[in-house]
Amino acid sequence: MARIFSGIQPSGELHIGNYLGAVKNWVALQSQYESFICVVNYHAITLPYAAPDLIARTREMAIGLLAAGIDPEKATLFIQSQVPEHTELAWIFNTLTPLGELERQTQFKEKSGRQEQVMAGILNYPVLQAADILLYLADLVPVGEDQIQHLELSRVIARNWNARFSPDAPYFPEPQPKLTQTRRIVGLDGRSKMSKSIGNTIGIMETPEAIWEKLRPAVTDPARQKKTDAGDPDKCPVIYQLHKAFSPPAVVIEVEEHCRGAKWGCIDCKKSLHGHLVAELAPIRARAQELAGDPASLTNIMDAGAERARVVARKTIADVKERMGLPLAASAH
Ligand code: SF4
Repeated sequence: MARIFSGIQPSGELHIGNYLGAVKNWVALQSQYESFICVVNYHAITLPYAAPDLIARTREMAIGLLAAGIDPEKATLFIQSQVPEHTELAWIFNTLTPLGELERQTQFKEKSGRQEQVMAGILNYPVLQAADILLYLADLVPVGEDQIQHLELSRVIARNWNARFSPDAPYFPEPQPKLTQTRRIVGLDGRSKMSKSIGNTIGIMETPEAIWEKLRPAVTDPARQKKTDAGDPDKCPVIYQLHKAFSPPAVVIEVEEHCRGAKWGCIDCKKSLHGHLVAELAPIRARAQELAGDPASLTNIMDAGAERARVVARKTIADVKERMGLPLAASAH
């Protein structure tokens, strides 16, 4: 079974952008691949944060992943800081990564541009990302188009390390992108990608009433001023994309026909979407509430995941250190 690695930032409650853009795919992939799914909290500390807030966001993300269908019996779900081998391998990879490669990364340019003082962690972020993936000798990484550059760096690092320390039989596989059918989910403002920091999201724990309060004012095709004006679903960035994600195919066809033929108003269309969206989220919300009410079980699940991840991580670190002439920690012998 090929192995995949996926990471997600501990941004708090899962929203439908993460859910549709990544997590729903991971749930499907966990039955076909040996899956390692990591809440990457070491990545989160590269920007200013408050400690109590980070721990809360980390737990909320873990709850969201489990509630959305990540099955800890099938996938190894864990929190990055519980597996210290991630940072150990990242340091090793730092010694093999040209500075110029890191400075060229688009995300570094974007993030450093927004900071008064740029910390080295922002520059080295992709090295830790490479360590995350290669620590598990992952064959595939489910990514969107915007993450291919980071993955390419992981491949370069794997190649550099293999060339120096394992030239006859490459130790690290060069991970390949698994381009999934993920869509870039537009936020409720109709302009930017759905993102918690922009505040244009619908959270998976939100009540049906709160979801309706967000859907009701969402932008639609501006040509539809009145119910009798014909519209174009392709010019309706929020509601139509969500219908395609949450409504059955027959309803999506109905939306097309009713919009183009001015057979219903946008509020009717939004009510239809609301029904399908709430129906899909209801069991996720119920599971999330259950997990949130049982912190001890959540801790046990995440500790067990970290332990499983460490079995693989320790083996990789031992192999790497042996080839590099670095003695193992005394307790690891
Ligand atoms: Fe959008 Fe539906 Fe209104 Fe058409 S009818 S513009 S798809 S909300």
